[in-house]
Amino acid sequence: MKRDAVIIAGGGLAGAEAAWQVAQAGYKVRLYEMRPAKPTPAHKTGKLAEVVCSNSFKSDQEESAPWLLKEELKLLDSLLIRLAYAHRVPSGASLSVDREHFASAVTEIIGSHANVEIVREELRSIPEGAIVIIATGPLTSDSLSQSLREFAGEQHLYFYDAISPIVDAASIDMRKAFRASRYDKGAPDYLNCPFTQEEYLAFYDALVQAEPVPLHVCEKAMYFEACLPIEEMARRGIDTLRFGPMKPVGLVDPRTGRMPYAAVQLRQENLRADSYNLVGFQNHLRFGEQERVFRLIPGLQHATFLRLGQIHRNTFINSPRLLEPTLQSRRDGNVFFAGQISGVEGYVECIATGLIAGLNAARLVAGEVLLVPPRATAIGSLIHYLVSADPAGFQPENINFGIMPAPEAIGRRMGKQDKHRLQVQGALKAMADFRARLRPSVASTAR
Ligand SMILES: Cc1cc2nc3c(=O)[nH]c(=O)nc-3n(C[C@H](O)[C@H](O)[C@H](O)COP(=O)(O)OP(=O)(O)OC[C@H]3O[C@@H](n4cnc5c(N)ncnc54)[C@H](O)[C@@H]3O)c2cc1C
Repeated sequence: MKRDAVIIAGGGLAGAEAAWQVAQAGYKVRLYEMRPAKPTPAHKTGKLAEVVCSNSFKSDQEESAPWLLKEELKLLDSLLIRLAYAHRVPSGASLSVDREHFASAVTEIIGSHANVEIVREELRSIPEGAIVIIATGPLTSDSLSQSLREFAGEQHLYFYDAISPIVDAASIDMRKAFRASRYDKGAPDYLNCPFTQEEYLAFYDALVQAEPVPLHVCEKAMYFEACLPIEEMARRGIDTLRFGPMKPVGLVDPRTGRMPYAAVQLRQENLRADSYNLVGFQNHLRFGEQERVFRLIPGLQHATFLRLGQIHRNTFINSPRLLEPTLQSRRDGNVFFAGQISGVEGYVECIATGLIAGLNAARLVAGEVLLVPPRATAIGSLIHYLVSADPAGFQPENINFGIMPAPEAIGRRMGKQDKHRLQVQGALKAMADFRARLRPSVASTAR
């Protein structure tokens, strides 16, 4: 196996970004993507970087943690973040993409790069002796999962993620739904379905009594807290949804002039604005039950569902036991992990780890010292979490200020916003310094 080429397994968000970083550094890449010949339960196309569920890349609100992560990626010349902004659709204060245009653009740019060869095959085991990045995501194929289990020397962990339903825009009753963003922040891009107390109680009863899809007997249900099925959340208490995905605060129903008792928000799916997803309505109810229960939402009584909620396995390694902060495996420094399988959660987090694995794999080929992003940065904090979290009961994490170091005390009690502002300032400065240590091409081409 020639060591001047990097093998990347998986052409998803992490793998595509990693391929771009290696190729831009001047090294050859063999990118294995098994789709379309071998599909996954969630992907629909053969394109690279297909966004499988929500089309949201989270908040773009200045000084929020997800915004900071994206700013750091821009500084590091991330291809996927540049293309996400180029193919964004209106979604208030968040960054959401037109999934078809985004994936097509990534496929076109990576596919035509002189240093990249895309191999449309399943990589069934970890190739020996080669520099490899494993970025096969939460739905890693069975053969490779088996090989990884042997490589890692311990069992993978499994839990379930779920997909939210999508409705046809033309079937939404706009005499009931209204357009607004919470607290009027940004453009009024969301459609809101307002509930009276009576409507909410009827909906709640139907939801908790609806029939779920049975879980696979061999697998234990372990839900990631940020992606709980809606019916599970409802079972935790009658008002849990009103403080979660159905919270009405910041909304005023123009028909009553008041805040509704509860509300469901619908987010635009594509530039044509012909479909909307039910924000936070991931679930694992039977399809017929979903249609019956979700038609109790005011405004969706005649909804046409283009996609219903689903539930899928998630595969990730126990990174605190297995990874170095360079994203190399402790067992074999030629093997890197990136994306969801490395134990991060979320599209942008996957891109971030893909970028760092790609940068470091290129440095390994070049015989250079591998780099770890500074702890003060959002990317550095995500990686710090991966390698230093408690390995017992390890769960994937997405970016939040809680995993970043607190700013140094400045002699007075600081409010949350001031604290976050200092964290953001420190992170951006540290990332600019880090960028200056990278190859000159990044320093000159990053925007
Ligand atoms: C059902 C579901 C819904 C999700 N919803 C969201 C969401 O709404 N928002 C969010 O931020 N995150 C979500 N996630 C989590 C995560 O952010 C996404 O899954 C993200 O796409 C992961 O990026 P990745 O690059 O790690 O993997 P992926 O983007 O899945 O890419 C992995 C690629 O590897 C390929 N592959 C797998 N095995 C092999 C093999 N052996 N050989 C060759 N190719 C292989 C796959 O075909 C795939 O293209 C969801 C995950 C799942 C499973």
